[in-house]
Amino acid sequence: MTIHRIRLLGDPILRAKCEPITKPRSTAVRVIMDDMRETLRDWQSRFGSGRAIAAPQIGAPVRVINVEMDQPWTLINPEIIDIGNEDFEVWDDCFSFPNLLVRVSRAHRIRVRYQDLKGEWTEVEVEGDRAELLQHEIDHLDGVLAVDRPQGLDPFCLREEWHRLHGPGGRYGPPESRSETYATSL
Ligand SMILES: [Zn+2]
Repeated sequence: MTIHRIRLLGDPILRAKCEPITKPRSTAVRVIMDDMRETLRDWQSRFGSGRAIAAPQIGAPVRVINVEMDQPWTLINPEIIDIGNEDFEVWDDCFSFPNLLVRVSRAHRIRVRYQDLKGEWTEVEVEGDRAELLQHEIDHLDGVLAVDRPQGLDPFCLREEWHRLHGPGGRYGPPESRSETYATSL
């Protein structure tokens, strides 16, 4: 397994329309998934944050996402097949621009279809933080970043400033409404 450099905003590979995986059980796919997991865990151990990673962020323009929340979860060729009516706003962040927060609007509930490690198609319905996380990651597979989805007035905030405003003892205190949720998705 290899820990990769995270590709940063400006790298053209982050704008690629990623290719579908045709052989989910192949060795090549296994290597990419292992490297994504290793790279994400390395980031978590160094910075204490990070919930998911998309393949283009390690330089592989293919449709794979790795989520590490309560347990490892790999989604191959994921697609959103249904979106709920309710939206919510979050301050989103990303490994690929770690010091910038962007206020975006996401659907509260989505239904996602994907292939698992055996190549079996599965459907899952997720809401809240999991829903916005998967929307962020699936965007990556289409070359779309949170900076492309700014919402409302003054939608960009440097992390340091965000903590100054909203952190403990900050000028505005912690966000109270859901519209000011800090996603910490990275
Ligand atoms: Zn990201």
